[in-house]
Parts: sequence; C-alpha cells; structure tokens
Amino acid sequence: MTEARTSCINPRCNRTYKQEHEGQEVICGKCFRSLPDAVRTNHRRYWREYRKWDRRIKRTRDELKILHMRVIRDRFGTMIDCHWDAEIKPYFLSPEKPEGLDAFLEEVGL
Ligand SMILES: [Zn+2]
Repeated sequence: MTEARTSCINPRCNRTYKQEHEGQEVICGKCFRSLPDAVRTNHRRYWREYRKWDRRIKRTRDELKILHMRVIRDRFGTMIDCHWDAEIKPYFLSPEKPEGLDAFLEEVGL
C-alpha cells in the first residue's frame, strides 16, 4: 500500500480512507450513526447550509454578492469545524468515558 490512508476518528474502528490532504480527519458512516441524534442533526444542518451557500455562490455573477455569500458560507465552515472538535471527536476520544460505560449505554439503547 503506497497511498496515505486516514483512519476513522473512532480509535476502536478499523476503517480507513484514502487521505485527501495532510491532517485530514474522517468518520465512517457506521460510527456517524452511533452519534447522538442531536449531534447528527446539527452536523447535517451545518453542512446543508454550507452547500446551499456554495451553490448560490456558483450561480451568482455579482462580485459583491459573491463576497458577502462567501463570508456566510465560511461561517458555516467554521461551525462545522468547531462542531467536529467540540462534539464529534470528544464523543469517541473523550478520556473520561470508560470502555465499560460505552458497552452499558449501548445495551440500554442510549
Ligand atoms: Zn468508524
């Protein structure tokens, strides 16, 4: 294997992806579905907004509008990054959550 691979953010997951850029972080679909509903909903909402503004930028020829819309789009980009660092990564990497609790929560369906 010569190409660089990026592992799923969950240290207990073995899935890897082709690395698109240095320092890339990914989550596989299976681990994403294991996140709490509220986290998934927010994540999807930020991405939906981001793509919406991205599409609008591509459809517009007005340079001034493009500048404004880029600011809005990039704000959602920042929110995606913050949300990733604050909610998604800690869910899998948080040291104060012992292994046993995970199994217990899974068992009771939380
Ligand atoms: Zn995974």
